[in-house]
Amino acid sequence: MHTDLVAALDIGGTKIAGALVDGGGRLLVRAQRPTPARQDGETVMRAVAEVLGELSGSPLWDRAGAVGIGSAGPVDASAGTVSPVNVPGWREFPLVDRVRAATGGLPVELIGDGVAITAAEHWQGAARGHDNALCMVVSTGVGGGLVLGGRLHPGPTGNAGHIGHISVDLDGDPCPCGARGCVERIASGPNIARRALEQGWVPGPDGDTSAAAVAAAARAGDPVAVASFERAAQALAAGIAATATLVEIDIAVIGGGVGKAGDILFTPLRKALTDYATLSFVRRLTVVPARTGTDAGLVGAAAAALTRTPDVTAASR
Ligand SMILES: [Zn+2]
Repeated sequence: MHTDLVAALDIGGTKIAGALVDGGGRLLVRAQRPTPARQDGETVMRAVAEVLGELSGSPLWDRAGAVGIGSAGPVDASAGTVSPVNVPGWREFPLVDRVRAATGGLPVELIGDGVAITAAEHWQGAARGHDNALCMVVSTGVGGGLVLGGRLHPGPTGNAGHIGHISVDLDGDPCPCGARGCVERIASGPNIARRALEQGWVPGPDGDTSAAAVAAAARAGDPVAVASFERAAQALAAGIAATATLVEIDIAVIGGGVGKAGDILFTPLRKALTDYATLSFVRRLTVVPARTGTDAGLVGAAAAALTRTPDVTAASR
């Protein structure tokens, strides 16, 4: 059988998206269901099975040689299980076995969603052509992934590059993960908004207290809003600089809702990087916005399946 496609799944707290993807990263067939995140694990799995069922109804399904899954974390790729924070019905849920069974035994590649975004950015986005890169998603949380030596580096459990939970403030606020002063505790969208409100920022007449509203206020010159983005930029810069110093990345890519804030984030971020990334081999480090859009999770899951499945990769050349 000629298997030049892969099936991709992007599993998050709000939706389960699926696609059949070719070797050029094109999404040929799509399916999607809302994630029944508050229901029991089998109900969530049924939604996954429905997405796969819709894909397998396509005449192109026979060309799919593997399945790539990017899932909200934590994931354990070595065990084939997922325990997404926002899907309490899934704790060490054997997703890889279940998807393999639902697809008649196709090989299944599981990675975390931050690693999936990284795979997408390396394949088609801002990290393309970079052999050593850190890609981040800064939104409700802060996730990330690494490309090292030209290859995606998911690590043994699929979580490597989880920059949101490295500490950049030793005595900082407690983080839901159990540590203190994590990058996420300072730089995530909700924490940018929380800090602005605590410091006296007053939202507009629409009452919008999102990080996007803080960004709009910062662009309009509100000093408290500006300061909250500067603090987030400082935390991101410290985390990025630490990563660059450890493994010699030359580019950091930032996606997610906060990554769309533009100069309000990137100007103080680049300035803060000069404070923290000081050694000769990290001084040329650049920071840029992500280029892949809402399909990044699917594209990245497909990339992981393609690179780990030699038959498909060969067929797609
Ligand atoms: Zn944390």
